[in-house]
Amino acid sequence: MAYVARKIPFVGTPDTNPETKPFFQGADAGKLMVRRCTSCKKVHHYPRELCPFCFGNCEWQEASGKAKIYTFSVMERANPPYAIGYVTLEEGPSVLTNFVDCDFKALKIGQDVKVTFVKTEDGGPSLPFFTPA
Ligand SMILES: [Zn+2]
Repeated sequence: MAYVARKIPFVGTPDTNPETKPFFQGADAGKLMVRRCTSCKKVHHYPRELCPFCFGNCEWQEASGKAKIYTFSVMERANPPYAIGYVTLEEGPSVLTNFVDCDFKALKIGQDVKVTFVKTEDGGPSLPFFTPA
């Protein structure tokens, strides 16, 4: 059975803090924001004030939104079914996500995906998820 789903079980407002606020503001504006180190130039996710590789200072950067599926799992017994997994962003980091607007049975490791934004059910900021490119 193929599932085409936009709705995922619950999309609630995440806890935000000063470190992550620009990430959620960006998502609400349709931008996937990541942190880039000003010293070693590596990009990381989730957002942190200091670089997890060299402890250098970081700045915000808009990611391309292009990624490839690293791994995924389909929760077929959930109601409604949903698919989660990691995608590797074009900029380097891997991000845990739900997959939306797609046939879960057609998902493949290595598949090109792109970011899309889903409104939270309780009025919070939009959240980034991924869908086939
Ligand atoms: Zn660094």
